[in-house]
Amino acid sequence: MLAGRAASGERARYTVGTILSTLGISHEFVSAADVDGAGPLSRGVYLVVGTADGGLMDRICRETAVVVLPDPDLESTAPDSVLPEPRTQNPEPALAPKQFRMLSQPTQGGHLVGIAADLVGLAFKLLARDEEYGVSARDDHDRFLWSGSPLSATDLGPRPLVSEYAHLLLACLLEGCLQTRQPVIRKEFWPHGKPMAGCLTHDVDVVKRGKLGRGVAVRDVRGALSSLVRGRLGRAATQISTIAGTAASDKDPYWSFDRITTMEEARGYRSTYYFMAGNRHPEDAVYSLVEPSIAELMAKLEGSGCEIGLHGSYLSSVDVEMLRSLKAELEGKLGHAVVGHRNHFLRFRAPDSWRAQESVGFAYDATLGFSDREGFRGGHAFPFFPYDLVADRPMGLLEIPLAIMDMSLSKYRKLRGADAEDAMETVLRQTRSVNGLATLLWHNTSFFDPEFPGGGSLYESALDWLAENQCYVAPANEIAGWWKAREAVRLSPLMDGRVGWRMEAPEEIDGLVLRIGLPDAESSPRVGGQVPLALSRDGTDHLLEYGPLPAGFAMDIEYS
Ligand SMILES: [Zn+2]
Repeated sequence: MLAGRAASGERARYTVGTILSTLGISHEFVSAADVDGAGPLSRGVYLVVGTADGGLMDRICRETAVVVLPDPDLESTAPDSVLPEPRTQNPEPALAPKQFRMLSQPTQGGHLVGIAADLVGLAFKLLARDEEYGVSARDDHDRFLWSGSPLSATDLGPRPLVSEYAHLLLACLLEGCLQTRQPVIRKEFWPHGKPMAGCLTHDVDVVKRGKLGRGVAVRDVRGALSSLVRGRLGRAATQISTIAGTAASDKDPYWSFDRITTMEEARGYRSTYYFMAGNRHPEDAVYSLVEPSIAELMAKLEGSGCEIGLHGSYLSSVDVEMLRSLKAELEGKLGHAVVGHRNHFLRFRAPDSWRAQESVGFAYDATLGFSDREGFRGGHAFPFFPYDLVADRPMGLLEIPLAIMDMSLSKYRKLRGADAEDAMETVLRQTRSVNGLATLLWHNTSFFDPEFPGGGSLYESALDWLAENQCYVAPANEIAGWWKAREAVRLSPLMDGRVGWRMEAPEEIDGLVLRIGLPDAESSPRVGGQVPLALSRDGTDHLLEYGPLPAGFAMDIEYS
């Protein structure tokens, strides 16, 4: 059994809860009074966040492991401070997990594990986007950029630091279990125990390239004429041949949906498309949901198992009423509820955008990413429930963070060919190293090669990478559904003298895998009754894989 003791208040509890849930570890919070009371600590693993007093240390007994993290700094700079300065010239040593040493020592029959780094405080500030509150340095589209983050002054990049801290804490907990010969059970991250997940998404901003028909734009013709006039014959010839090529095809080059579907279906993948539901600002889409071609497209995509979500207007990122009406408009056209949202231009302001989406009833948001840099804006390569620093409360909306946007590589970073591929692979490898989720955003326009050289083939190589690495790949609504159903699964110790756990799944779930580490190599888990599952081994761990489970399923897992 693992118990987390929150040092103080909601913030520590939120952060510890988020990290342990990510790791698939069932836990309960016990009050300081319970732990600080007299008598020896009962058998188990205790996570103490904050100072572990001498009395507690004296009460560690056989089969008790205590994992101690320092008193967290949870004081936010929000809401009205300016951009916080990095604390040191080079903050890397204070942030990078490779710098943190684990202390592990036996004590009076039990065991003590500790790390002298404030994982909880650091994780909290990254997840809650503390650095974005009250920041005046935003770009022309009112966006907080990677270049405005103090972390950009380090070599770390927008790495999944919170996820790395989570794995570090896992290592501490497992060390405590190992040293005190205690069993440990946790939920694997993704269905069927896949090592990583990918989420494929497309924002539909523009569907027609030009006004001249067949995707030829006025700017193409002007460009070619200007080259001719200036005597740049080679360039003019290329431009004319592009125009001819565009005009010769029967489809507008921005109408790349068949190509995207073909690429994804060839690998058994489906994706999410975010459509705009109105034109409220000059930067918004120029198509309309009432156009027959758009209605047909959405029906076809849904028919093939893709998700349609709302691409919020340039203006609706903090406008609750506009967001509500756009959601209703898209739902009216689709004939069912829309659960997911990503804002146009990745416009986002914490906590107002999260609040707006939560209050109009979205299940998840997929906006959280930097426009100008691939990587993890909240430092976490997993879905998570955000924290509202002003109201001081965890939110009910799930964030599915963005990892890689096509435009970050091409437009903002100006990376081409192998350079773009390297930048993309770096993020994918970082995600794999923490068993995380990489959400990709590829616009339908990026598949028009003359304008976005290599955009389509880069997407295809991302799909190949996900396939080669045996990733679980799904649209965002299914990722959100999996994450919530997995989080709801409870694992509690059996209380009636038997050794093992009771597993309860309040929601329907398919592909749940439990990873069980037992103190004796000869031990193995036992389950009773006819249940859809498979037992296998991974090193010394036992893996229990379930098939589809109905809501309310429960089962005892014993071992001997
Ligand atoms: Zn957009």
